[in-house]
Parts: sequence; C-alpha cells; structure tokens
Amino acid sequence: MTEETLLADLHSHTTASDGMLTPSELVERAIGNGVEMFAITDHDTTAGLAEAHAYNNSHATPLRLINGVEVSTRWHNHDIHIVALNIDPDDSEFDAFLINQRNLRELRAKEIGERLAKAGIEGAYEGAKLLAGDAALSRGHYARWLADKGYATSMANVFKKYLARGKTGYVPNNWSDMATAIEVIHKAGGIAVLAHPHGYKLSTKWVKRLVREFKESAGDAMEVVVSQQTVETRSQLIALSLQNELAASLGSDFHFPGSWTELGKSMYQPPGVNWVWQMDSWPAASA
Ligand code: AMP
Ligand code: MN
Ligand code: MN
Ligand code: MN
Repeated sequence: MTEETLLADLHSHTTASDGMLTPSELVERAIGNGVEMFAITDHDTTAGLAEAHAYNNSHATPLRLINGVEVSTRWHNHDIHIVALNIDPDDSEFDAFLINQRNLRELRAKEIGERLAKAGIEGAYEGAKLLAGDAALSRGHYARWLADKGYATSMANVFKKYLARGKTGYVPNNWSDMATAIEVIHKAGGIAVLAHPHGYKLSTKWVKRLVREFKESAGDAMEVVVSQQTVETRSQLIALSLQNELAASLGSDFHFPGSWTELGKSMYQPPGVNWVWQMDSWPAASA
C-alpha cells in the first residue's frame, strides 16, 4: 500500500487530557479499527506519548504513531486549537511552553469552579479534578461532572448552559496568541495544523479570516476532514486549504467510546488534496 492510502487519523485524546481511554487502550482501539497512521494530540500535554509508543512497539501489528499535541491559543478572544504534529516531546522550550499552558489551565479551572459556585453549583472544581486525576483540567472534565450530576442532559447541553463563551462558567481565555504558539511548535520540529475550523461557532466570513490569518502567522496545514461533517463542509474546507496554500489534515478528535466519533471512522481521503504526509518536511516512514 502506498502511504497516500493509509487509513489515517491525526487527532485524538487520552486520559492524559480529557479523553477516557489510557494511551495503551487508545492505541489498541486504533489498531483494532484498522488505523495505520495515528496521532495522539492531548490538550497542552505530551504526557501520554511514552506509554503509547511502548504499547505500540510491543504490539504484533504496530501502527505508525505520530507525536502530537493540541495547543490552545487565543485569536481575537476566541479559543482556537492548533494540532502540532511530529513535535519533539523532549524539546525544552516546547516543554516549558506546555507547562505554562497547563498552569493557565489550572488557574482557569479554579475560576470556573468559583463562577459555578456563585451560581449555586458547589463542588464542581473538586469533582472535575477527581475525574481529571493527573491530567491537566479541561472544560471537558467539568462537562462530564456536570452531566453526571444531572445539571444538563448531555455534555453538549452542559456547554450550552454553563461552559460556552458568555455562559455562567465561562472564563475569558488567556492562552498564548496563535503566532507565538506556531513559532514554538516550529522550533520543536513540528508542523502547525489549524484544528476543526468549523468548531468555533464562527460565521463563514470569520472562518475565512481565521484560515487566512493562520497562514499569515506561518501555519502549515488545516483539518479538512473531521467527524460529523457534511459533504459540503468538507468541500468548503478543502477549497480553503487549496486557496490558502495550506496542507490538509484529518482527524476524528476521539475522546471516548459511545460518543458520535470513532477512531478511523469517516476519515475519507478525497482526491485533489495536499495532505500533510505529502509535505517535504514530513518525516519519512522508518523501515
Ligand atoms: P478546554 O480545552 O478546556 O477549553 O475544553 C475544550 C474541550 O471541551 C474540547 O476539547 C472538548 O473535549 C470539550 N467540548 C467543547 N465543546 C463541547 C461540546 N459542545 N460538547 C461536548 N464537549 C465539548
Ligand atoms: Mn477535549
Ligand atoms: Mn479542539
Ligand atoms: Mn481535540
């Protein structure tokens, strides 16, 4: 099989952030689903990668495992996510950058807890922290705790009611700006991929502006194939990637079994797309 036709899924989460499978369980599931090129991209941490590699290397049919991380950034007061692929997890500047990101997460998480307490919801911070364990706290942990406690009927509804921009528990973000994040990713040998461009509740005009400014900030690629998208959306994203001379990536953004997303599912590779693994800077497959 040529590399172009490998089943690829380049966006996923483990218990190192707000996913619910351990790195080993996630790799096992990806292999089981036939994924051949796979990236783990936890929020602002590379802590899951070592275990994932160890498990993958001990497997009878290992897949090609890409070192990734999903970096939270700030752009015009929006939370914009950048998936960094092929980063060196031992790069000290990148490591320091991620430590700072996780400190910001902790501060924000406390503030979310305080805001929810003021709204009459006690114990949310402690509850989310318990679900997170050693992982850096995410709104995903809050959403799970609030949904479990019956504050809303689903995680999506928790976001609508409490955690989305402008709602009681939303804390204006303080992440690094997009250009700074891209620079640090590049220094760590990574490529910067704009994650789920339609996932920010932006108008079409603003999505176009985001993609353009991402390119101007030295971004390399954007996700064009994600879970739960229409054919029209996919075509629009592919067109945007070509117009802006950004390479294209794809990923399920899998967090846990039983949701709408699944590892390797709907990871189409339509023709006429410049995929990230076709970039000159993409590392050659090791024999
Ligand atoms: P954070 O990085 O802490 O701002 O949290 C963002 C995470 O929350 C995302 O990666 C998702 O896992 C989760 N999330 C965001 N929006 C929703 C939603 N509408 N429904 C369920 N989970 C969501
Ligand atoms: Mn998440
Ligand atoms: Mn994201
Ligand atoms: Mn994600």
